[in-house]
Amino acid sequence: MGCAWSRKNAWESAPRWLKRGLAPLLGRVPPAWLLGRRFRNHLQFVRDAQWWPRARTRMYQTAQLRRICTLAAERSVFYRRLFREAGFRPEALSCPEDLAAVPMIDKETVRANLPAMCTTPPMRPWVDRIATAGTGGVPLEFYIGADRSAVEFAYLLASWERIGWTLGTPLAVLRGEVVPAWRGIMRYGYDPMLRRHVYGSFDLTDADLQAYLDHMNRLGRFYLHAYPSTAAALARHLHRTGRRAPLGLSGVILESENVYPVQRQMMEDVFGRTCLCCYGQTEKLVLAVECPGGEGYHVWPTYGYLELIDEAGNPITECGRRGQIVGTGFINTVVPFIRYRTGDEATYLGQRCRLCGREHPILADIRGHRLQESLITSDGDEIPWVALNMHDDTFRQVRQFQFTQSTPGRAVLSVVPAAGFAAGDIERIGRMLDMKLRNRIALTVQVVDAIAPSGRGKAIYVDQRIERAADLSRPWEQACSG
Ligand SMILES: [Zn+2]
Repeated sequence: MGCAWSRKNAWESAPRWLKRGLAPLLGRVPPAWLLGRRFRNHLQFVRDAQWWPRARTRMYQTAQLRRICTLAAERSVFYRRLFREAGFRPEALSCPEDLAAVPMIDKETVRANLPAMCTTPPMRPWVDRIATAGTGGVPLEFYIGADRSAVEFAYLLASWERIGWTLGTPLAVLRGEVVPAWRGIMRYGYDPMLRRHVYGSFDLTDADLQAYLDHMNRLGRFYLHAYPSTAAALARHLHRTGRRAPLGLSGVILESENVYPVQRQMMEDVFGRTCLCCYGQTEKLVLAVECPGGEGYHVWPTYGYLELIDEAGNPITECGRRGQIVGTGFINTVVPFIRYRTGDEATYLGQRCRLCGREHPILADIRGHRLQESLITSDGDEIPWVALNMHDDTFRQVRQFQFTQSTPGRAVLSVVPAAGFAAGDIERIGRMLDMKLRNRIALTVQVVDAIAPSGRGKAIYVDQRIERAADLSRPWEQACSG
């Protein structure tokens, strides 16, 4: 497939000497061209479709739901049985609400039925295997087409445009990536295709942040693309040291974690720029982005189908009520996710934004499972757990895992083995995490039979037992931790 992202993937796996040689050339080519025709077509579609009236969007959603359900019924053993037992016929679907006849599924369903859910044998070159930590410390594995990123990125671009970012404007990236040392100065890498300056942010010391800020000051106009916890670490550093935010910083794009209101206020004060929060999942079901100056998050209605469901499983239509986000994705045709409970919650605000006029479902106060849990180093720095949520093979043979910490600089990782777990896996997991932790946390890996759920009824990733003393230099964290 000649799609844009296979080109980007090829770039990422190219040898470093080749990248060095090509980088100056790529820097002069418009990124939209580099990303390919599939990307450009999707971007045009997304930019138009966001202004569609609701009736047209509903027709589009109905067609997409019928397409994905028909595919599932024809090619997936699991869905064929599920639909038959529920008496659901995809060809009879006449409006999005008809989908409610299909029973909901969740992560447990995927874990137990993955091979039967696939619409195609997954060992194909155009299929990627995705491994995430999943909710509640239980890893989740599934498959998705390698061409998804061109579509995904068109939506992200159209989202980020809302605070003035345009394709080609540099991004300073602090998203927990492991980046090799650069010229002995800092952990840094550059992606000329998207003009991303990627800083090693798995953990952040003051020395790292100083070096990054010096570098950012030379970027010209740029946007910060970060986890809320890493952006907050940068803002705290600026506040603590009295240093000014880089002059070229034009906006902040936050993804992948809950953003606490006080934390956001602190960042906007320190950076002097608007923060734009985006919500999505690795499963690619529901994507939502804030409306600057407007109310809440706008859910992209052509990306996937959102249902907000109360505890009894009924749809929420009343403004101000909270429910669980249930999504049906339009992008993944390898493993369809149909009526999938994300485990995330939100408050329903309506179907039309009063400020911009977009007829999209409006959600507020989205609370994901990605709480900002951290490990603490011996010098008091925090390493957010999302940075440990590796999209690689580290936790492949593990059913569940959890860090326990009682002393700064030391932690115990408990793992519940899955089928195929061998003695060598303990050593392998320890080695891979040490690489990320750069030995700032002495880690002991232990095998356990089970991990007890926390008091909140949900297993958590970090059982943090260190009492954090009142520290007036970090007032926002105390407000957030409650
Ligand atoms: Zn709006």
